[in-house]
Amino acid sequence: MSNPKTPAAAPAGGRGAAKKELPERFQSYKNVWVFIEMERGKVHSVSWELLGEGRKLADKLGVELAAVIMGPPGEGITHAINDSWAYGADLAYVIADPLLTDYRNQTFTKGLNDLVNTHQPEILLLGASTLGRDLAGSLATTLKTGLTADCTELAIDDDRCLAATRPTFGGTLLCTIYTLNFRPQMATVRPRVMAMPERTEGRSGRVIEFPLNMAEENIITKVLDFLPDVTSDKVNLAYADVVVAGGLGLGSPANFKLVTDLAEVLGADYGGSRPTIQKGWLPADRQIGQTGKTIRPKLYIAAGISGAIQHRVGVEGADMILAINADPNATIFEFAHYGIVGDALQILPALTAAFRERLGK
Ligand code: FAD
Repeated sequence: MSNPKTPAAAPAGGRGAAKKELPERFQSYKNVWVFIEMERGKVHSVSWELLGEGRKLADKLGVELAAVIMGPPGEGITHAINDSWAYGADLAYVIADPLLTDYRNQTFTKGLNDLVNTHQPEILLLGASTLGRDLAGSLATTLKTGLTADCTELAIDDDRCLAATRPTFGGTLLCTIYTLNFRPQMATVRPRVMAMPERTEGRSGRVIEFPLNMAEENIITKVLDFLPDVTSDKVNLAYADVVVAGGLGLGSPANFKLVTDLAEVLGADYGGSRPTIQKGWLPADRQIGQTGKTIRPKLYIAAGISGAIQHRVGVEGADMILAINADPNATIFEFAHYGIVGDALQILPALTAAFRERLGK
């Protein structure tokens, strides 16, 4: 384990005394797989982020990178296959069946379980989205293998094992977990923890089709209707280019208007630290940090936020962090690129006015 305040040491070879030869029965397990999460024909961006990460793991192992695509036959699957090539896959396993039109745990677990048992990947990665968490848990249980959830770093150690690093003890430590006795090695990663890879146009690969072999009458859950969430105010924190957030230092929920005003002028999304959510100042889907959203904006403005480690892990992927804090010794100044020491209640409206004038809004 290592302290997350210092950059995590490369976990390669970190098993020390536990190091041993991989059992013979693992020899047939090859390749790195990424589950491509597709809902209503649209692929979740976390899948491309994982293909980028999977590419590095596959290159280190000297094996192929596969995209696993499940859904109803049609254009959605065709697009997902083509995008998988662009994001680095060498081959695509495709299970196309009308029964996969809507996500149901039973159908997806059965299809993926059969595919894994037949083609035997060394490593299987899924996004730690709502769907991915549901599927990864049931699949690992069905396959009777290990799953490391919410990883922040993935690497290959000297023995070809996946070193899956994740925060533990409330985010105060990082631990690296190995699946030594079972295959495949499974891990989930939250959206935006890994960087989005560049697209490479013109690549292509092999498609391997696989049957689902299920009948509707044997599926316990039925999808009767799809109701889009109209109550949500379209929170897009994880993928926003600019994010403005407030913490307890704002003093009261009414003062959050200063955060939303600045966000509006900048065309930004907004959020808060965990205590502001716990106090009911903001809804839960606006929490930023280890137990909230991980963000990777070009600019993150944090006002009245101390910079606790659980907040830091959710924001340190930002290209630029500007912190506003009344305390010159606040922890957030240790990792912010720019800092303003002062009262956020005065600085936020001043920034809003300045940007409004500059942007002619
Ligand atoms: P404080 O720590 O109270 O900081 C307020 C800051 O505002 C201070 O630095 C103060 O100097 C400054 N300030 C005060 N007045 C002003 C002013 N007028 N102008 C400018 N600055 C001012 N936290 C998260 O954010 N996200 C998470 O996902 C998360 N997950 C957690 C998970 C676990 C298991 C645990 C144990 C904790 C988690 N936390 C999380 C909580 C985290 O440890 C901190 O308690 C929290 O981030 C602190 O929130 P804060 O910075 O808003 O408040």
